[in-house]
Amino acid sequence: MIIVMRKFAEKAEIERVIETVEKLELKPIPLYGTERTVIAVIGDERPVDEHHISSLPGVDRVMTVLDPYKLASRETKHENTVIDLGEGVTVGGNKIAMMAGPCAVENEDQMETSAKAVKAAGAEIMRGGAYKPRTSPYAFEGLGVEGLKILQNTAKRHGLKTVTEVMDIRDIDVVAEHADILQIGTRNMQNFNLLKEVGKTKKPVVLKRGMSATVKEFLLATEHIMKNGNPNVILCERGIRTFETETRNTLALATVPLIKELSHLPIIVDPSHSTGKPSLVAPMTKAAIVAGADGILVDVHPKPEEALCDGDQAIKPEVFSQLMKELKPLVAAIGRTI
Ligand code: PEP
Ligand code: MN
Repeated sequence: MIIVMRKFAEKAEIERVIETVEKLELKPIPLYGTERTVIAVIGDERPVDEHHISSLPGVDRVMTVLDPYKLASRETKHENTVIDLGEGVTVGGNKIAMMAGPCAVENEDQMETSAKAVKAAGAEIMRGGAYKPRTSPYAFEGLGVEGLKILQNTAKRHGLKTVTEVMDIRDIDVVAEHADILQIGTRNMQNFNLLKEVGKTKKPVVLKRGMSATVKEFLLATEHIMKNGNPNVILCERGIRTFETETRNTLALATVPLIKELSHLPIIVDPSHSTGKPSLVAPMTKAAIVAGADGILVDVHPKPEEALCDGDQAIKPEVFSQLMKELKPLVAAIGRTI
């Protein structure tokens, strides 16, 4: 059941509804919007008197959501969710959120050069993995806590926010302590225990689409995070596995406007992991933005040929800088900013 509050309902009215739901031994999950708040009710609703709830002050209506994904559904919340990272940086608003940096944090120099470059080009969020899920157990698996510290310190020096992957429940606290956004990788999209635990934090989460996940499974995965109390989910289309071998994955760009129809959550696109080819990063970034993406997560490495992870798909800082310039008129043409 979803309780839709009136536009600009007062805080006390929202709190009263929450208390009423709790008294019925159900779990209220408020989704706060700039204009309107909706409260999802989780649990056995059979004993609930809908009329009583809809007569409470500030309540507009009580409804049942038909979509299997309830909290992420556009049916539940009409207005777009805007995730606030602080200091004016948001994801899901009119401004396109550019998240750029190396696939993995390797050392201070590499991160310093990357931070300087992505900041100068206009990005506000830096990426860099400290815990790397690698197909081969013999490949570089990241610097762990040391990598998190390098990422955090470098980003702070340059006034950037950060996004980094968390692979294991045991690392959630330390990653959350050092980063602004927790990334759940494609291989963990259906690691339900991990989703549940990041759901218990309030940290924004970038949830990458499972490489073989349908859109419905993708949205249901967000539900595991949101149901546990964290509404700050950013979806990320990063390509799916198909028969095609010329690109690393197949970038399913139609997912972007489709998710916009189905959900109020922001969606970003990763042109690097989806294509695996530096030459395709710029055209796919442009296409993603025109398709309605709220942001881009892109691999930028100062020396791709020396990268310890995914160097063959990273673009160089100068290519990123040029791309940012080319995006300006494009973004303006669709009424957004970057
Ligand atoms: C990444 O972004 O570093 C990454 C490992 O991506 P994915 O989970 O999409 O493969
Ligand atoms: Mn990578």
